[in-house]
Amino acid sequence: MKMFVYSIVLSLLFCFEQAVLSQPYLPVPEDDALLEHKQRLVAAFQKRMQEQHTLAPGQSNFDALYYKLEIDIHYDPNFIEGSVTGRFRVLQQPADTLRLDFDDGMQVKTVSEAAVSFQHNGQILSLALDRTYQPGEIVSVRISYSGKPSNQGFGYFSFRSMPDGSPQVWSLSEPYGAKYWWPCKDTPTDKPDSVDFIIGAPTGQLAASNGVLRDVVSIDSMTYFHWHESYPIATYLVSLAVGNYEHFQEYYHYGQADSMLLDYYVYPGYTDKGKDAFKDMSDYLDALSHYFGPYPFLREKYGQVQFGWGGGMEHQTMTSIGGVHPNYWSLYVHELGHQWFGDAVTCASWQEIWLNEGFATYSEALYAEWAGYAGYPPGIEAYRAYMGRIRYTDEKTVFVEDTTNIYNIFNVVVYFKGAWVLHMLRHVMGDDDFFTALRQYVSDPRWVYGSVRTQDFQTVCEEVSGLDLAQFFNQWLYYPYFPSYKYEWKMERNTASKTEVRFKITQTQETTVYEMPLDVTFYFIDGSDSTLTIQNYLQEQEYTFRLNKMPLSAVLDKDDWVLKIAEEKIPDQIPKTVNIRLWYPNPFNARQTIITENWLNQRSRLQIFDVLGRLVRELDPINHSRNLEFFEWDGRNNQGKKTASGIYFVRPVLNTTTGIQTGKSVKVVHLQ
Ligand SMILES: [Zn+2]
Repeated sequence: MKMFVYSIVLSLLFCFEQAVLSQPYLPVPEDDALLEHKQRLVAAFQKRMQEQHTLAPGQSNFDALYYKLEIDIHYDPNFIEGSVTGRFRVLQQPADTLRLDFDDGMQVKTVSEAAVSFQHNGQILSLALDRTYQPGEIVSVRISYSGKPSNQGFGYFSFRSMPDGSPQVWSLSEPYGAKYWWPCKDTPTDKPDSVDFIIGAPTGQLAASNGVLRDVVSIDSMTYFHWHESYPIATYLVSLAVGNYEHFQEYYHYGQADSMLLDYYVYPGYTDKGKDAFKDMSDYLDALSHYFGPYPFLREKYGQVQFGWGGGMEHQTMTSIGGVHPNYWSLYVHELGHQWFGDAVTCASWQEIWLNEGFATYSEALYAEWAGYAGYPPGIEAYRAYMGRIRYTDEKTVFVEDTTNIYNIFNVVVYFKGAWVLHMLRHVMGDDDFFTALRQYVSDPRWVYGSVRTQDFQTVCEEVSGLDLAQFFNQWLYYPYFPSYKYEWKMERNTASKTEVRFKITQTQETTVYEMPLDVTFYFIDGSDSTLTIQNYLQEQEYTFRLNKMPLSAVLDKDDWVLKIAEEKIPDQIPKTVNIRLWYPNPFNARQTIITENWLNQRSRLQIFDVLGRLVRELDPINHSRNLEFFEWDGRNNQGKKTASGIYFVRPVLNTTTGIQTGKSVKVVHLQ
């Protein structure tokens, strides 16, 4: 699902020109206290997850196998009537009662097949069965009902008008809405293996739904559309959209001789707009198949149907969309991404909706990488630009603690930070392992076409990479905000060919200490740069780098692989003067490099004197970072002539007469 609520979020866009260099992630040893803390945290969240995952009494004793919905749409007055047939396998205990979720506002007329009587209250339809069924037996019940579904949630079941004034209906059951219009075991943890949906609509209207349209039959003034979904489907993904639609079809060619139907339903007069808006659908499918593996419902179709809600909803094989315009490409990609993440594998708990929404949002960034974005050609810069656009979090956690309010479930942090969890994981695992894990997770026989938990995804990532990712998922899913790094560095030892740099990182956030690999990039005076990856897992941690060149500046995580704030720390006592810090080689022949430390708001110059105190040369810096200035002396005087061998004195000066004293002169030896 995608709501347009986050366009107000300020986006921070970081663009970098440098190529990405990274080192493999090395798992770090943990101390016992840290381990204990993690285990307590995981136990607490697992307990909460169980508490919130509730089924009606006895519901877990039944496995939903199949539903057949036969629903007729009536306008003026607006209501539906029909029946639902459900088949269930009895699991552990003998059973003489089957409880389904069904809104009290709907009127049950009769029950039949194995159901002999019913009670309907407290949002539960309790069916007395004709006998006691033993574990392994299959129970088939049929419920006839009618009513006008209550339009709660995001519009679980809505009677509306199309732009031409004609009536339409559509459903959007996520997360709790299926039971408002059809009786079922309404949980994402129990998908029926298949669903038949026969929608009766006044002749002239079209009905779009999941799976394949098997046949269309008109009887009197009604037309019946028989849709068959042959893949398992969560109850909240069973959908309908009915109205005076215009209908057009295209094909997605995914192999030399293979193609799949692209099935579109748009408002009257929208066919041309729809053809334009959806023209890149095959490219979206190519891209997401490239990253995630084959489209999960290839035997059937992919479709989009226009409806009266501002965002989109990933109904299985038939997404409902509000906007029809090429500008909505990210919406179309997002909902298509859900066909893998949300539909083929479905979050088992609404607390872990990030498994749907974080992944679908991340699909948008991958498509940006595939196709180009924000002026960037296809590639990692385009991807980074997109991730920069969705760089946002607040005090909420990716894990939804309270799922009683649906706006909690679909809060922007789940989408954006959820996508960033994947972005960060990509860097932690490396591209090969990360994409292998994504493809494996979404097609894993242990849960494909079923429901999943974060632990399942973590398991696959650990199996593929060999890493222990427990802390990674804990810190990013269960804690609010992000780490805040302060870093400082200084050169300890330096010769012309070797520089030793002490680098210190402090985590200043209050929530938890994060364990992350972090890139440190050094920029050198010759314009080159080098990126090294360190493991950071302590609140204060120091590193020593041995570089073969003198760094000009250092940047933490320049490519923004980590959701963070990083700031270079200014020393508490900054010198109010300019000092020469390093000069080499000494003696020198062709070229002398001189580096000054300067924290002032103006750049300095160097003056070079001979032993008689005569000014030989003045130099401006050839490069500078925040606090370092780099000078080079080629041994020539101000007239461009080579100076004689001998001793020279170099001193820093400032351009203005502010009374600031500059530091001491240094002595250099020039050998011709
Ligand atoms: Zn979504």
